[in-house]
Amino acid sequence: MNGLFHFFLSYAIIQLSWGYAREFIVLIFIASVIIDIDHIPYILKTKKKLMSEGFGEESRSFMHELPGVLIVTVLCLGLFLVYGVDVARVAAISSLLHYAADFAVGRTRPFWPFSDKVLVSPLGITDKKKRIFLEVTSTIIGGVVFWLLLG
Ligand SMILES: [Zn+2]
Repeated sequence: MNGLFHFFLSYAIIQLSWGYAREFIVLIFIASVIIDIDHIPYILKTKKKLMSEGFGEESRSFMHELPGVLIVTVLCLGLFLVYGVDVARVAAISSLLHYAADFAVGRTRPFWPFSDKVLVSPLGITDKKKRIFLEVTSTIIGGVVFWLLLG
C-alpha cells in the first residue's frame, strides 16, 4: 500500500482507540511511512520500469519483513523507556499497521534474508488494474475518514 494510506489508517485507528492522534500527528506520519524508505534503492534501480513492475517482494529490504518487525519492536521498547507509554504506543501501532497492511495485500518474503520463500496473501491482488483501483479507492476512503476525524 502507499504511504498516504498507511498514514490515514494509523491516524484513524489511534484516534478511534485513544482519541489523541492529533497530538501525535507527526510521529504517526513518520512511524507509518518510514518503513517504505527501503523502496528508494529499488526505485533508483528500476527507474522507468517501475510502473510496469510495481513494488513486489524484490522492492523490500529485511526491514520490511519479520526481522524488521522485531527491530521496530525493540525500538518502540526504547521509546517507552525514554518517552513513556503514549509515544511508544503511537509508534508501535503506526509501524505495525504498516506491516499488517503490506502483508495482507501483497507479496512478501517474511524470513528474508534467511529465506527466499515468497508468500502471497490470499487477499493479494495481482492484476495491475485491480491493484491500482484498490490503492486509489482505499486511499481516498482513508483520506475522507482522516478529514472527518480531524474535524
Ligand atoms: Zn510498505
